Amino acid sequence: MNTPINQDRRRMLKLGGTALAMIPVIALAAKNDGMRSSMKYKDSPEGDKACADCVQFVAGKGPNDAGGCKIFPGDTEISPKGYCVAWVKG
Ligand code: SF4
Repeated sequence: MNTPINQDRRRMLKLGGTALAMIPVIALAAKNDGMRSSMKYKDSPEGDKACADCVQFVAGKGPNDAGGCKIFPGDTEISPKGYCVAWVKG
């Protein structure tokens, strides 16, 4: 039965679905500035030492994608070509 209340409810559900579909999917990226600073992190290697070769590195999707570091909680922007003073050969 199509009562006015049911029609209103349907219209609201439709609008709600449309609104949800319009919310962009944003990949949440974050940096742990405190750890970066205290460990003197930089986005470039130190000689032949780079995050990609460090035991603490958590690789991203691809070999050149940013990843994480086991000692930088919440940081998802660690460059595989980066470096910090905590580097240990992996
Ligand atoms: Fe890179 Fe330092 Fe983490 Fe090693 S400890 S992966 S060098 S940020």
